[in-house]
Amino acid sequence: MFRLILLAVREIERRNSGALPLSYFAFWTVRLAGWLPRFNACATCGKPFGKQPAYQAASHPGLLCEEHRRSGMKPVSFAAGNSRNALRENAWTGSMRQSKRYPR
Ligand SMILES: [Zn+2]
Repeated sequence: MFRLILLAVREIERRNSGALPLSYFAFWTVRLAGWLPRFNACATCGKPFGKQPAYQAASHPGLLCEEHRRSGMKPVSFAAGNSRNALRENAWTGSMRQSKRYPR
């Protein structure tokens, strides 16, 4: 955790902007704590979404498939689906690695 804090502070200083480093810090804090939901599979049954829509609601953690969606849940948009893929592929990590200060 100390290395993550140190990385974020150095990147804020180097970039003179906190947007990406703070997003990176928040993402990894949630992930390391074990609170990050899966973005590519149903939180109830674990079935991968593939090309099928995922459903979400602010009152429910994680994304659900068509079969397990609850009333009031809304489908995640295509743009959000791309974000799901970006998170899965650790796009932010790649960007932070380019800084050469990424902890190994
Ligand atoms: Zn399901």
